[in-house]
Amino acid sequence: MNIEKEKVVSVSYILFSPNKITNEEVQVEKTTEGNPLTWLYGVGAMIPDFENNLKGKTKGHKFDFRITAENAYGVIDPTYIIDIPLDSFRDPDGKIDSEMLKVGSTLPMQDNQGNHLRGIVKEVSLTIVKMDFNHPMAGKDLHFTGEVLDVREATADEIAHGHVHGPGGHHH
Ligand SMILES: [Zn+2]
Repeated sequence: MNIEKEKVVSVSYILFSPNKITNEEVQVEKTTEGNPLTWLYGVGAMIPDFENNLKGKTKGHKFDFRITAENAYGVIDPTYIIDIPLDSFRDPDGKIDSEMLKVGSTLPMQDNQGNHLRGIVKEVSLTIVKMDFNHPMAGKDLHFTGEVLDVREATADEIAHGHVHGPGGHHH
């Protein structure tokens, strides 16, 4: 069976991303034995280029492809790197939790519309905290290697729900 729209696809994969400084590939993600990635193909659940590289393939196909940052999680948007006054991190007693405000920490934040965002602390000065709200994978090229483990027909329920049921999918 070929991979096409509304088929349920299972793959094992390793995701690498080149380190911008050393140019070495670092492993970002890896599926484990018995726990593949299973999804309903062609309904917008995946990065389009990830799906395009698997289109028409069958069980047993081994893949090795790259997706540039522009076509993956996007390039780093400098407008998402924001200086926040250090004072807004003070607790009611005026104290700063310096454990929390460490460079590299990920903090749950809220914008002024009440949307929940996660930001990474880039810099802490005496007056400001520089935070990066880009997707953690923004600006990173992706390199996938792996194998197509299974391709099956989706059930009518799965197509109606837009996701996979059973192993690797929703249980409800
Ligand atoms: Zn469902």
